[in-house]
Amino acid sequence: MPGPGTSIFPVFLRKVLRKSPILKPPAFGCLRGVPSINLTRGCLHACVYCYARAFPETPEREVWLYANLPEKLREELRRRKARGKVPPAVTFSTASDLFQPHPEIQKKALEVLRLVLEAGLAVSFLTKGRLPEEVFSLLANWRQRVRPRVGLVASVPEYHRLFEPRTAPPALRLRQLERLSALGLSPAVRVDPVIPGLTDRQEVVEALFRRLSAVGVREVSVSYLVLRPGVLRQMARELPAGLLREILKFYRGEPWQKVITSATTKLARKEIREKGYRIFREIGRLYGIRVKICGCKNPDLPFEDCLPWELPEEELPLFAAGKG
Ligand code: SF4
Repeated sequence: MPGPGTSIFPVFLRKVLRKSPILKPPAFGCLRGVPSINLTRGCLHACVYCYARAFPETPEREVWLYANLPEKLREELRRRKARGKVPPAVTFSTASDLFQPHPEIQKKALEVLRLVLEAGLAVSFLTKGRLPEEVFSLLANWRQRVRPRVGLVASVPEYHRLFEPRTAPPALRLRQLERLSALGLSPAVRVDPVIPGLTDRQEVVEALFRRLSAVGVREVSVSYLVLRPGVLRQMARELPAGLLREILKFYRGEPWQKVITSATTKLARKEIREKGYRIFREIGRLYGIRVKICGCKNPDLPFEDCLPWELPEEELPLFAAGKG
């Protein structure tokens, strides 16, 4: 049962004890077979478009921190080692952010990162948060085993204010990317969700890529906003009505279909996505940034993976212990 919470407006953090196993392979996508770790249930960033907020198991106006996660994970790794089944790599789940703005979450995040790296595993995470100072030196010590990815859709403050106001501001994320690049960590950027008509405009993409190039980013993966009923309800509650109407024009007439694990997903019209991805690729070429289109969220386009590692799945073990 959840213990007493500490207040962070408008969401409460509760410490809970995790009972189920920590290392769970995601059942879909490029990271199939690579176990993912969820440090919290729910996410303090509460982005307007977040698919995970709409899960029935996500607590409302609360985030649960798995207080016993490091001990439980240490024990799982010990048992797996005894059976010769230590995974070569782990990711941190995209259903929560590893670096949420709360000191207790950040402390646990650091502890868990250190634990998996010292156990010889490769690690990838995706964040829109503020990285605590100690993280930079930890990651630098294990640079061959770490693939940091930063979510950044647009460098304009207006986008941040409307869609993800509790995440780190774009200017801070760019500074963090610059530090990660300088440490030799080759950070990649995930431009997701692209908002049709808003963040796929030539000048917005150009401004973003100019900044990414300046801070040393060489790889970007891109995908448009996908709608699900729960995400639509969030957007209707939290976005100005006129803006939502404009966005929905790009989805009009499209069917609800199965995409990834959800049976009720709506994609932006194909010609809109194709045109947008062309813009991203062309601008990427200008700035020497490789652009990948997320294959999982674009099942009607030629498949491209978004693997954080350059290696095919069967070679991932080569990437593991002893290479840090
Ligand atoms: S940071 Fe990611 S997990 Fe957290 S609310 Fe935003 S989209 Fe969801």
